[in-house]
Amino acid sequence: MPIKKRALLLRRLRNAVRGEVKEREPLCRHTTFRIGGPADIFFVPDDEADLRLALRILQECGQVYFLLGGGSNVLAGDEPLAQAIVGLRSAAFRRLEYRDECVWAGAGVRTAELVRSAAKQGRQGCSFLAGIPGTLGGAVAMNAGSRDYRDPGKIWSLRDCLAQVRVMDACGNIRDCDPAELAAGYRQTGLRRNGEVVLGALLRLPAGDAAAVREEVFGFLERKKKTQDLSRPSAGCIFKNPPQGPAAGWLIEQCGLKGARIGGAVVSTVHANFIVNEGTARCADVVALIEQIRRSVAEKFGLDLETEIQILGKGQG
Ligand SMILES: Cc1cc2nc3c(=O)[nH]c(=O)nc-3n(C[C@H](O)[C@H](O)[C@H](O)COP(=O)(O)OP(=O)(O)OC[C@H]3O[C@@H](n4cnc5c(N)ncnc54)[C@H](O)[C@@H]3O)c2cc1C
Repeated sequence: MPIKKRALLLRRLRNAVRGEVKEREPLCRHTTFRIGGPADIFFVPDDEADLRLALRILQECGQVYFLLGGGSNVLAGDEPLAQAIVGLRSAAFRRLEYRDECVWAGAGVRTAELVRSAAKQGRQGCSFLAGIPGTLGGAVAMNAGSRDYRDPGKIWSLRDCLAQVRVMDACGNIRDCDPAELAAGYRQTGLRRNGEVVLGALLRLPAGDAAAVREEVFGFLERKKKTQDLSRPSAGCIFKNPPQGPAAGWLIEQCGLKGARIGGAVVSTVHANFIVNEGTARCADVVALIEQIRRSVAEKFGLDLETEIQILGKGQG
């Protein structure tokens, strides 16, 4: 972002909002990959009114923004990021409230906290989120999901338990929308295309047997421990599974790419659809490895793998 524009934006934001406005905040501190250069502007709104004010200013200045949840599905570029980062991390976005058959969860609630709380209350319906890092806002936007540990043919996703989603559009208008309006599919919703901000969601979690819910959570967690590479920083699965045909991990493994490395980025030997950061990986390393995988899979199987992770910035270092 040009220096003058950044200075003007920072001044306007700091004069108008109550939340925290940081300058040149390193994104490696906010992504599970532990990769990412500085964000020119990193804003944490105090509440909905504060967010509305900021979005208005960003829009008036023609400034593009990116909603960052737990950063567990994001690969951030090495160079300073021109997009403003908005993170719903303040207390106003971390409320968790039980209402009859449902629970209201703010966008900033960690999925781990939601799962823990629901298990404690004996509420069923969100155990499949166990072991999926990040926040509720990110889980709604990505329609996060998991394969059932008892029945591998059954896939759970967030839309299965969504009753309502509260969103703010880029102009600051708030509406409660029906889950059907989200057009949720495999690791996607229309929200991300429209630039809408998830403020929170009402999840249908009926009362169940607390011991059975705890057992379910354990089952999902154990499956993740067995199948995923949790030993080093990553962003989970890099590619979506192709709509027809074998899983992306299998395709990558068949290309002999387990253990392939560029710089500090390595294709996991546990799960070939994971790229892990051995400590020194840069975004450019991961992007180059992604391209190598894509080329190999296209040559061997004639399939074009689509990334699941969100690549921020130039992504080329
Ligand atoms: C070890 C590991 C295992 C994983 N396993 C799984 C798995 O089993 N299943 C699965 O589905 N995913 C998995 N993931 C990926 C990731 O955890 C999920 O996609 C998660 O839901 C992302 O949430 P987040 O808060 O971290 O979102 P981020 O990574 O911060 O953002 C992801 C997307 O959501 C958008 N977003 C975030 N918050 C909001 C908001 N409030 N309003 C609007 N948009 C928003 C962002 O702009 C971005 O486009 C895994 C990741 C890791 C690191």
